[in-house]
Parts: sequence; structure tokens; C-alpha cells
Amino acid sequence: MAEDTMKEQIRSGIRALCAKFPEEYWRTMDANKSYPEEFIQALTAAGWLAMLIPEEYGGGGLGIQDAALVLEEINRSGGNAAPGHAQMYTMGALLRHGNDDQKKRWLPGIASGEIRLQAFGITEPNAGSDTTNISTFAERKGDVYKIRGQKIFISRVQHSDLMLLIARTTPRDQVAKKTDGLSLFVLDLRDQGDKVQVHPIETMINHETNQVYFDDAEVPVENLIGEEGKGFRYLLSGVNAERILVASECLGDGRYFVDKSSEYASQRVVFGRPIGQNQGVQFPIAQAYMDLEAATLMRDRAADLFDQGIQCGAEANMAKYLSSEASWKAANAAMMCFGGYGVATDYNIERKFREARLPLVAPVSNNLVMGYVAEHILKMPRSY
Ligand SMILES: Cc1cc2nc3c(=O)[nH]c(=O)nc-3n(C[C@H](O)[C@H](O)[C@H](O)COP(=O)(O)OP(=O)(O)OC[C@H]3O[C@@H](n4cnc5c(N)ncnc54)[C@H](O)[C@@H]3O)c2cc1C
Repeated sequence: MAEDTMKEQIRSGIRALCAKFPEEYWRTMDANKSYPEEFIQALTAAGWLAMLIPEEYGGGGLGIQDAALVLEEINRSGGNAAPGHAQMYTMGALLRHGNDDQKKRWLPGIASGEIRLQAFGITEPNAGSDTTNISTFAERKGDVYKIRGQKIFISRVQHSDLMLLIARTTPRDQVAKKTDGLSLFVLDLRDQGDKVQVHPIETMINHETNQVYFDDAEVPVENLIGEEGKGFRYLLSGVNAERILVASECLGDGRYFVDKSSEYASQRVVFGRPIGQNQGVQFPIAQAYMDLEAATLMRDRAADLFDQGIQCGAEANMAKYLSSEASWKAANAAMMCFGGYGVATDYNIERKFREARLPLVAPVSNNLVMGYVAEHILKMPRSY
């Protein structure tokens, strides 16, 4: 199939699915802080969340360029892809670094949706963006690792069977490089009882995220991904996919704001003419549109390199930065364009505005992206 036809089929397939989940659905989910279970089930049943899993394990065998379109279209429709996005990419660490037994054990279930692997435990209160400073510790005792420690802002734990977890297996002061001595595990949340305690955090968006306490949580040694002590590099190999996909959600949000604002500005009449006739209203929308177009090129470039297996850390980081900033600009243009109606819940702009703020800080803060570009591309002194 020609590449463009395939892309159009993905976009139109997602648009048709999202049409069954109109903005009223998302507004209700947001107001009640509910998990959009029916939407996630519909995405799963249609195979969209399994598209990155190879066909031999029951997935779609498609690339990140295709997955990016799915998430972009969901957000462009007024929906929110975040409740399901991690089911798409968290398995990447398993796929790239897991052994055959692990892949056979988990990937077919993840592909069918029978197993949810959509919780990823990295962030800790005392480490924040400095991941190598985490202190959650996994101590090997015979055939199991016992995990003790605390994580924060771990999303979708209540909607996940498994959690991908990074923990120290050697203390930071006993390793030559601070990136050594970290290990990646698949933690089965179903077995843990009160050894894993989950406390939801109230947030300004409908994004179920939690504090998680591990009190001798048990992980059998066969759930260690790759080699003990090398988890940080496995983690890094997955962040590019995450950044490209989050960038795609931002592009979807940004296009949602531009679509809604240009339409509203053309219809809303004040002082006897459409507000969009005023350059003060139309220019910010036009600027946001141009920024989104430019960010899309960077997202496409990063995704293309990723699918070819070419190193794309710089492009994935830049795509995430540019897309989240463009989306935030579009969100602010929409708020201004809608005037008082922008803050009225029924118009959906305020909900999307709140959601568009998150990607400036998570999964990685844009400050850290700028630090990365300064150090790794511009060869300036290391700042973190
Ligand atoms: C809704 C939500 C969902 C999340 N989901 C998950 C999840 O599922 N799994 C998970 O592991 N994590 C998750 N996170 C955590 C997220 O990845 C972190 O919040 C983010 O990486 C920033 O870490 P922090 O909040 O500790 O900020 P901090 O590291 O405390 O930083 C605070 C501010 O200081 C800035 N800063 C810090 N150091 C520097 C520096 N050297 N130079 C310049 N600026 C600096 C940062 O950019 C930031 O703006 C989630 C967060 C949120 C809010």
C-alpha cells in the first residue's frame, strides 16, 4: 500500500472511532475524574494500542510514524490519548532488551489487551529530574528481588497489571558511573497485596497519577530486563519513542485549538464584524499554526529516523520541545479568541488548555531538553 494511503487510512480510522466519543464524553470524564475505560477498550479492540508490537506476537508490526498519527488524531478530535498511550510504548524496553521467554510470556497478552502494561515507575520525590539519584532499591534474595522505596507521579497504576520499574541494585556511591547500578524490572502488580501501596495525587487534569510505596515488593529474577545494573541505558533507548509520541499528542492538541479558534473567530461578531477580522485576534492563531507546521516537520523527521533504527535523541527531544511549546501557544491563542467562553466548561477550551500545560514538564521538562541541546549539540558546558 502506498505510504500516503496508509497514513490517510490510519487518520480516517481514528477519526471514525473518535466520533463515537464526542467532546461531551471527555468533558464528563474530566468532571468526574474518571478513566475513559470504554474509549480505551475500543482502541484496544481495534488493535491501535498494539500497533508497535511485531506481528509474530500478535501486534500490528507498524512503526512509530504510524503510532504518532493515532495519538495526534485522538487529541485533535478533542479527546485525550494519555490514558492509553503508555500501553503502546512501555513494552518497547521489553521488546528491545527482554529475552525470548519474557517476550513470549507478555507481548501476546499486551497485544490483545488482556495484560495492561501501562505504568512506568521512574520519578521519585528526592530525585525529580535527576533519575540516577533515585533511591528505590532492589535487593536480590535467592530467586527474587525485594523492592523498597517510593515513587511519585506514577500514572495509571490502577489500570495496569504490570509496571515497568527502575530501581537501584547497587548504591550510587559504589558505582564508577552514576548511570550504572540501575536495573529495570517488570513488576506484577496483581501479586503484591499491601507490598505495593498506591495513593492517588489530585491534579488539575484528569490524569490518574499516584504516589507508590514499595514495601518488600517481590519480583522474581526472571522479570529482570536485560542485565542487572544496565537499566539506565535500556530506559534511555525507550525515551525517544515516548518523546515522539508525546510530541504527536501536542500537535493534535495544537491543531484542535487552531481548528476551533479559526472557526469561532470567523463566526463570532462583535462591533459589527467577526472578531477574526481583527489582526490582534487572527495573528496569534496564524502564528500558532505556523509553529505547529514547523514542529510537525521535526516530529516527522524524528519518527522517520526512529523507524530506520538511526539515533534520534536530538530530533526526538527537539520534536517534544517544539510541539509542546507550539501547542501551548495555540492554547493561549484559543483562550484569548474565545474570551469569556474560553473558561466556560461547555466550550471545552479550558479542559484542553489545562491538558496542554502538562507536556511542558512531563515526561521531561523543556528546561532539560534545552540543557540537552546546549550540551550535546552545541557542545556547551554540561549543566546537569
Ligand atoms: C501528571 C503527571 C504524570 C506523570 N507521570 C509519570 C509516570 O507515569 N512515571 C514517571 O516516572 N513519572 C511521571 N511523571 C513525572 C514527570 O516525569 C516529572 O514531573 C518531570 O520529569 C519533572 O520532574 P519533577 O516534577 O520532580 O521536577 P524537578 O526535577 O523537581 O524540577 C522542577 C523544575 O526545575 C527545573 N530544573 C531542575 N533541574 C534543572 C536544571 N539542571 N536546569 C534547568 N532546570 C532545571 C525543571 O525543569 C522543572 O521545571 C508525571 C508527572 C506529572 C505531573
